[in-house]
Amino acid sequence: SPGSGDVGDNDSIKVFVRVRPLTQDTGLTTDGDQNLCLTVTSNNTIRLHSKPEPRTFTYDHVADMDVSQDSVFAGVAKNIVESCMNGYNGTIFAYGQTGSGKTFTMLGPSDSDNFTDELRGVIPRSFEYLFSLINKEVERSKSFLCKCSFIEIYNEQIYDLLDSASATLFLRENIKKGVFVEGAVEKFVTSASEAYQVLSMGWRNRRVASTSMNRESSRSHAVFTMALESKETVNKLVNIRTSQLNLVDLAGSERQKDTHTEGSRLKEASSINLSLMCLGQVIMSLVDVANGKNRHICYRDSKLTFLLRDSLGGNAKTYIIANVHPGSKCFGETLSTLQFAQRAK
Ligand code: ADP
Ligand code: MG
Repeated sequence: SPGSGDVGDNDSIKVFVRVRPLTQDTGLTTDGDQNLCLTVTSNNTIRLHSKPEPRTFTYDHVADMDVSQDSVFAGVAKNIVESCMNGYNGTIFAYGQTGSGKTFTMLGPSDSDNFTDELRGVIPRSFEYLFSLINKEVERSKSFLCKCSFIEIYNEQIYDLLDSASATLFLRENIKKGVFVEGAVEKFVTSASEAYQVLSMGWRNRRVASTSMNRESSRSHAVFTMALESKETVNKLVNIRTSQLNLVDLAGSERQKDTHTEGSRLKEASSINLSLMCLGQVIMSLVDVANGKNRHICYRDSKLTFLLRDSLGGNAKTYIIANVHPGSKCFGETLSTLQFAQRAK
């Protein structure tokens, strides 16, 4: 019978756990083992040094501290980019406490928008792979249109990272487009390097907003969306397919400890939890549905889940990268991330 540790046959949601290095500069020696709260025991299991007994968790994949950016990309994003080329929506989330490596995984070293860097993350690598596939298809007389948008959800408000002067935006839905952010800037791109430029412009705006507008980026969700339209003429019939690739750097998953803060700080803390909490609930309901249960999926309960409604569940492909910090001081948050990731299986 399927226990909580089993990997079910639901392959529309996959979970990749990534352990970040203990420290950035002292290398990856094992001398400090007593300071680690976990051990990676195989390429899909991790042992948490919990008391009184250690606990083993199983996922689709577990990457230890020394795993390269390129192998994370290959394990997580390649298939999703390929299925986007075939007309399926896809979403990649980076989940985890602040400091666990979400931004490093998705974008790269946070002080760099040099996308030729060996340390560039999943998003720039996905652009490169997508355009390499598009360039192959174009030779076979298929044509593609790609447009990017980049928004931030903070305190259940939507901000356009491609237009820092815009007012807050709202979600709408219609038959043709599904759910979309009304009025969000959409930039057409024809190469990976044009896509990098859009990404870094949005990233700079996010940094500016975090200081000048007081939108602390660890409390916001950044959602980069690449919308793809392919056009192919077969026997004089034009065949158009659309899909979306969503690349999401989630807000820090840590519990908000200062429960006595008043006013806007409290509102901030509770609504960040709302989008993350709803994401957890939507994912759990999707897992239940995949296991044959009848569940209502509450996409509308938060901005994040409603925006991504058409890219979660159904035929869409989802990968959650659960980032954990292996230090013993992070035991509590690491346990909570491993449990969140377990519930998605
Ligand atoms: P988060 O976005 O989850 O708050 P960051 O991605 O900003 O965390 O990571 C915190 C720090 O750790 C950054 O300086 C980042 O470059 C570094 N870091 C995170 N993961 C790794 C890794 N796998 N390899 C090297 N450095 C990393
Ligand atoms: Mg970050």
